[in-house]
Amino acid sequence: MTSDFSGLGLSDKVTEAVAAAGYTKPTEIQAQAIPHVLQKRDIIGIAQTGTGKTASFVLPMLTLLESGRARARMPRTLILEPTRELAAQVHENFEKYGKNHKLSVALLIGGVSFEDQNRVLDRGADVLIATPGRMLDQFERGRILLTGVDILVIDEADRMLDMGFIPDIERICGLLPARRQTLFFSATMPPEIQKLTSRFLRDPVRLEVARQNSTAETIEQRLVKVSGKPDEKRETLRRLIRAESGLTNAIIFCNRKRDVATLARSLERHGFSAGALHGDMDQKSRMETLDAFKADRLTLLVASDVAARGLDIPAVSHVFNFDAPTHAEDYVHRIGRTGRAGRSGVSITLMGPSDGKYIDAIQKLIQRDIPLADAGGEAQAPAPSRGEDGSEENALAPRGRRGRARRGRTSDNETAEPPARRAASEARPEAEKPAAEPRRRPAERPAAAAPAPEKERRGERPRRARSQDIDDADGPVGFGPDSPVPAFLLRSSRIN
Ligand code: AMP
Repeated sequence: MTSDFSGLGLSDKVTEAVAAAGYTKPTEIQAQAIPHVLQKRDIIGIAQTGTGKTASFVLPMLTLLESGRARARMPRTLILEPTRELAAQVHENFEKYGKNHKLSVALLIGGVSFEDQNRVLDRGADVLIATPGRMLDQFERGRILLTGVDILVIDEADRMLDMGFIPDIERICGLLPARRQTLFFSATMPPEIQKLTSRFLRDPVRLEVARQNSTAETIEQRLVKVSGKPDEKRETLRRLIRAESGLTNAIIFCNRKRDVATLARSLERHGFSAGALHGDMDQKSRMETLDAFKADRLTLLVASDVAARGLDIPAVSHVFNFDAPTHAEDYVHRIGRTGRAGRSGVSITLMGPSDGKYIDAIQKLIQRDIPLADAGGEAQAPAPSRGEDGSEENALAPRGRRGRARRGRTSDNETAEPPARRAASEARPEAEKPAAEPRRRPAERPAAAAPAPEKERRGERPRRARSQDIDDADGPVGFGPDSPVPAFLLRSSRIN
């Protein structure tokens, strides 16, 4: 494998920018993909986020874009991302590695005004980074012509599938010139994704990095048994956070959007420094929360899978699964947020009475048993198998059934909780399916008394006086039973 960037065929401008960014050695996916991209080959890259896959397409694209120039409303390249955050991250990559270029990059994502972006498009964009729904909106308004696109990047394709974007992707592919280069990235290759690649890619080079579904050796994984009662689960979580002496910051994953907001508020009320990240928040609040977490102004980030997927958050000491993930692959993604780049990390998964079957599936996937620990964090024994727990009633289930709401694309469709693959969805019990959540109140911050040093380390803040305890509040219910949603309701609405 190439040991530095000089042998990959990248332009001088690009290699200089990479050196300025402090990278001396290409990652595996970069070393594999860059030469093929420069040869104008189609690529299927099976790589997870965290492998350096963004630069594996951004760097050669920058090199290729050095010849030729953009024409009005005709972007030269198009990058499709499933979420706004990922789109924004790719944009940052273009800024970082393209600092020696004078390329124009347009970003079409929900939640931001289009005026500036339209101006860039009108002048001619070299790169258009977009979420699929927003891109189609602008196309339908006649703001973009897609006939000049030479390179198409479809990133995180399996997440696009989860979010119901495949019909949009198919439509977009049909609008692009047949003679284009397509770079296709996905962490997994379910059959629907394979079908898509055989339809829209030409003689692709298939690249795969790292074993799929592996978890880093540097992560200490634990399971903690909890009752299904939300308030007891929250109490256990608080106890675990307090017991973790090495905790510097943590991401806490919930399966449902409404639980993300409720848990974040609850933690704040209990004196922790916590923020929420979920798909119903507006773009500004999401970015603010993320920036605060990255800058260590926030210690605990409570997040849903969709909101957190693909985010580049360095150095997280702990990951908590407040809910065991119902898709085993999500476990790998979640705990992969810690133990990065050789650092050590801890992942603690709360296991409710009916989570045995999910834990079984996870253990099968990662090919190892996750040890049981007590609620104080001490290791006990390997996890029980499904039969032991599966028959007990899950106290969350009735609420989950009541609260099941319309899923799929909301007005800012890129961030909707995934409608999930139909087959998988039909096979799953109602209790696991995400439910709707009301508007979040503005972030509440406790009064500014200084916390004790050891509490600071755990992200705790002084407890604030308040009139009611959210921990006991019943969560919001959804819009109705699990009825199919007409396609027109799933379309994104236009902002301007
Ligand atoms: P990605 O998988 O694209 O989300 O990248 C994950 C992280 O790896 C980001 O923080 C990148 O800045 C970083 N990164 C990308 N390329 C390299 C490299 N060659 N060496 C070290 N870090 C890198």
